[in-house]
Amino acid sequence: MDNLRFRALELAMTRSQQLVKYPGQKASEYFGELTFNNAAMREYLTEEAYTQVMNSIEKGEKIDRRIADQVAAGIKAWAISRGATHYTHWFLPLTGATAEKHDAFVDPVEGGKGIEKFRGSELTQQEPDASSFPSGGIRSTFEARGYTAWDPTSPAFITDRTLCIPTVFVSYTGEALDFKTPLLKAIYTIDKAAVDVCQYFDKDITKVFSTLGWEQEYFLVDSALYQARPDLVLTGRTLFGHSSAKDQQLEDHYFGTIPQRVLAFMQEFEYEAHRLGIPVKTRHNEVAPNQFECAPVFEEVNLSIDHNQLMMHLIDKIAKRHNLTVLLHEKPFGGVNGSGKHNNWSLATNTHENLLSPGKTTKSNLRFLAFLVNILKAVHEHADLIRAVIASPGNDHRLGANEAPPAIISVFIGARLTQMLDAIEKADSHVFINSETDGLLKDLPKIPEILLDNTDRNRTSPFAFTGNKFEFRAVGSAQTCAPPMIVLNLIVANQLRKFKLDVDALIAKKETKDQAIFQVIKRYIKESKKIRFEGNNYSEEWVKEATKRGLSNFKTTPEALKAFVHKRTLELFESNHVLSKRELEARHEIRLENYTKKVQIESRVLGDLAGNHIIPVAIRYQNTLIENVKGLKQVLDLKTYGKLSQNQMETITEISEHVDKIKTYVNLMIEARKDANRLSETEEKAFAYCEKVFPFFDRIRYHVDKLELLVDDELWPLPKYRELLFTR
Ligand code: ADP
Ligand code: MG
Repeated sequence: MDNLRFRALELAMTRSQQLVKYPGQKASEYFGELTFNNAAMREYLTEEAYTQVMNSIEKGEKIDRRIADQVAAGIKAWAISRGATHYTHWFLPLTGATAEKHDAFVDPVEGGKGIEKFRGSELTQQEPDASSFPSGGIRSTFEARGYTAWDPTSPAFITDRTLCIPTVFVSYTGEALDFKTPLLKAIYTIDKAAVDVCQYFDKDITKVFSTLGWEQEYFLVDSALYQARPDLVLTGRTLFGHSSAKDQQLEDHYFGTIPQRVLAFMQEFEYEAHRLGIPVKTRHNEVAPNQFECAPVFEEVNLSIDHNQLMMHLIDKIAKRHNLTVLLHEKPFGGVNGSGKHNNWSLATNTHENLLSPGKTTKSNLRFLAFLVNILKAVHEHADLIRAVIASPGNDHRLGANEAPPAIISVFIGARLTQMLDAIEKADSHVFINSETDGLLKDLPKIPEILLDNTDRNRTSPFAFTGNKFEFRAVGSAQTCAPPMIVLNLIVANQLRKFKLDVDALIAKKETKDQAIFQVIKRYIKESKKIRFEGNNYSEEWVKEATKRGLSNFKTTPEALKAFVHKRTLELFESNHVLSKRELEARHEIRLENYTKKVQIESRVLGDLAGNHIIPVAIRYQNTLIENVKGLKQVLDLKTYGKLSQNQMETITEISEHVDKIKTYVNLMIEARKDANRLSETEEKAFAYCEKVFPFFDRIRYHVDKLELLVDDELWPLPKYRELLFTR
């Protein structure tokens, strides 16, 4: 058989742009046509059913059984009219993917005929076998049942002729087995806590929503080249590969013209996304070659998270139609930028205000300051948890690699706000005037109305204020947004509740409301100061400075994950009824197991590729050289031979040396793996994989990459970086 790499390259090079036919409609005409949105509900639901569903969405009211039957009938009619044949509960198990089990609408009836059926009970609840989903020991197989229950706040949608009903997923004993359950609880918690604080400022605010706008980065590679790289197929990243002579150093890819073949894929993807009501808005090239980004308009956080999950699935499906494969991994290629998923987060009110937008009046500015400072305080207190929630083996490669924010959590707020907070911190509280008149403080710089156009941006910060929202930049591209959003909303909610207690305590001591708020803000600014950092997060100085400040810097997943089970975290989750101790411990366990398994798979693939793909090819080439040297000896006189065979002899030796090193390290790695596998305690095992197995990866890779430079290009079996990154 000839070289797989060349067959793949041949295929890849002859690909042309796939032409897609679109209906001659405006985007506004097909936007959301595959979702059971408000318009569809009005058309397909009775007045009574519509009102109950809306009450359930807006006020969390229960839908009674009779109405559920009506809603199911409406959804069924709508779905069938759009070609759906099946339905499924769609949920977010702790694997990080989405899960679905399809059932046909059709049931046989007498006379060999069929009829479409869908009852209210099938809409609202199902009992999928939960035994094969990770539960971290919560659910032993003999109580394998789990329940899924309808989440009416995220509209049902149709994909692949299947009606998908977003649901939560809980165990028989009521514990959360998914991400949506704690998310919905965190959303409820922040609503309550933020409304209470808003009431100091504006009695009309009765509901607060958390909003999320994600920015999804990804790589595209030709599917044939992808298939010829077992490491990409099995681990999502390349375990070997010498860097290409040119990669991102000329910075000519960022915001460059999108290649035609990629554009055709993006257009089809966006068309399908819009039909599903995913408001994707922006597309562009990213920093690394063949790296791209897609971002939607922000939405309410629960919906936005579902949309991101759906998008990750959709993008993969559509790319395949264009013979492209999407790499969502955080670091598919060594030496070039990895991929992140910035989570832009803010809080919006029922009065259509953004609580993180500096206001026009002093009063709204005091409110803005209150929220800003509470967020700083929350991040300060729970920085370790924020770090933990974005920990994954993929993200470990990115954090701290001078391309993504470091593993040290800090907050950037910009020069203007820093000046403002510094002034408040130093101010004598009696200069405080009051929020009804102009100015909070004498001589205090006013918050500019619009910070948005401020060029004052820091792209190196893991958590940056960007004018009217925070951008959590350290989230990895393959991660679901749910955990970071659960944590962020929860810690801020928890902090806002404390704020209210602190302010009320001062009011009880006869301080005016404004004065009380101001005093607490002032104290919080001081207490949370060390979490603020305005400089270059990539610099060595920051690492030193952060250590001095006592900020943690957890470089690896097992280390970072410890914060999941800290006393402080348990208290946070338990006191807000978001997750119990048992549920948190289960999540900690699942993440550790996931870490171990991923590193284990990588280690096996690495050993296999080195042994079965790389070494035999290196030896084959070496044999050619040996033959050549033998031949030269026959045809040349001894002196000339001695001189001219030098080069080959050197290469022959070098190859042997690299092969020897690879063999030695692979064997040592396998030994380390065996030792690690003997450990029964989950955390200990994860640490063993991290500290004893993983370090061999780079050592082995170094020698394989050297061989890539030595061995005849015609023989090399794996598509090279220049081919993966520049074929488009
Ligand atoms: P960039 O950060 O790349 O400069 P933008 O600032 O325009 O881009 O916005 C990036 C993302 O921030 C988009 O997904 C957008 O929807 C989101 N975003 C904007 N405003 C908000 C908000 N109030 N809440 C949450 N996300 C927001
Ligand atoms: Mg951004």
